[in-house]
Amino acid sequence: MEKVIILGTGCAGLTAAIYAARANLSPLVLEGHEPGGQLSTTTLVENFPGFREGIMGPQLIMDMKAQAERFGARFQYADCTGLRRGEGHVSIEVEGKWVDTRTLIVASGASAKWLGIARERELIGHGLTSCATCDGAFYRNVPVCVVGGGDSACEEANFLTRFASKVYLIHRRDTLRASKVMAQRTLDNPKVEPIWNSAPLEYLTDTDGEMRAVKLKNLVSGAESELEVKCVFVAIGHTPNTAPFKGVLNLDENGYLLQQDGITATNVPGVFAAGDVSDHRYRQAITASGQGCAAALDAERHLADLGEH
Ligand code: NAP
Repeated sequence: MEKVIILGTGCAGLTAAIYAARANLSPLVLEGHEPGGQLSTTTLVENFPGFREGIMGPQLIMDMKAQAERFGARFQYADCTGLRRGEGHVSIEVEGKWVDTRTLIVASGASAKWLGIARERELIGHGLTSCATCDGAFYRNVPVCVVGGGDSACEEANFLTRFASKVYLIHRRDTLRASKVMAQRTLDNPKVEPIWNSAPLEYLTDTDGEMRAVKLKNLVSGAESELEVKCVFVAIGHTPNTAPFKGVLNLDENGYLLQQDGITATNVPGVFAAGDVSDHRYRQAITASGQGCAAALDAERHLADLGEH
């Protein structure tokens, strides 16, 4: 019987791990299928308090993990695939086995959304990606495009101008959703060219099966056109990673975990939610960290109520 299991190693999971470890609870932390969460695929984080000049996302994650390990958190590269209620505990399915725990902190985050057009899955890695930090450097001196109009799309577009000859920003409306500073910085970048009111219809490949161009539709005029790009970076938001919890934990209409009683508690006693898996409103590194802290404190109180701490 574990005392605390934490799912996820983004800001929420790692902050929960630091707090639970410092409370001598020796939490078991499962890294999931995207270790480090979204910060591990971002570049400079300029808005996490305490870093005057900013800090690289992967560095921030590595530092948080080392901090949690220093106090006794245990990390395992594994995913949770199921959840069951028990008496005074819950059980999670990990690699085909059921593991019992008194408390569970779900900080499994949210994953990139895709456009849902033909051949999308097969083209990932062949000129289609959702991570500029990971793949941008492969596309030097060639034209690329980013799809989306939020902060992620702008951040990706700006980052890609370091490598690409040209970065088209394809957005379905004619105003960006991104914060004003980010939007202005992007539109001021001479290498970025916005393509407004447009959406990709089809990915076009060369004889090697690599991205050659994208067919676009102008959503106002209905006109179709071809845009030659070597890579398409999709940055249209995220979906919460809650599939293993359906039917056990209460979710909202978009699949985000619902918290209750004004704390991080879910509908199942002993299970707490933190970070982007339950937050579609703020979605910031610092708010995820704050929730991770709160979830660890809530778990600690729950253990005390059970006489386990
Ligand atoms: P987002 O704010 O939800 O923006 C998603 C964008 O994709 C929107 O412009 C949306 O268009 C577009 N979109 C959604 N579905 C689409 C589809 N099927 N086809 C075409 N376009 C589609 O997501 P995000 O940019 O990932 O940002 C998420 C949160 O993280 C935000 O709160 C953001 O501020 C934050 N963030 C902050 C930073 C930073 O501060 N450095 C960096 C990244 C993200 P519409 O505008 O028409 O809805």
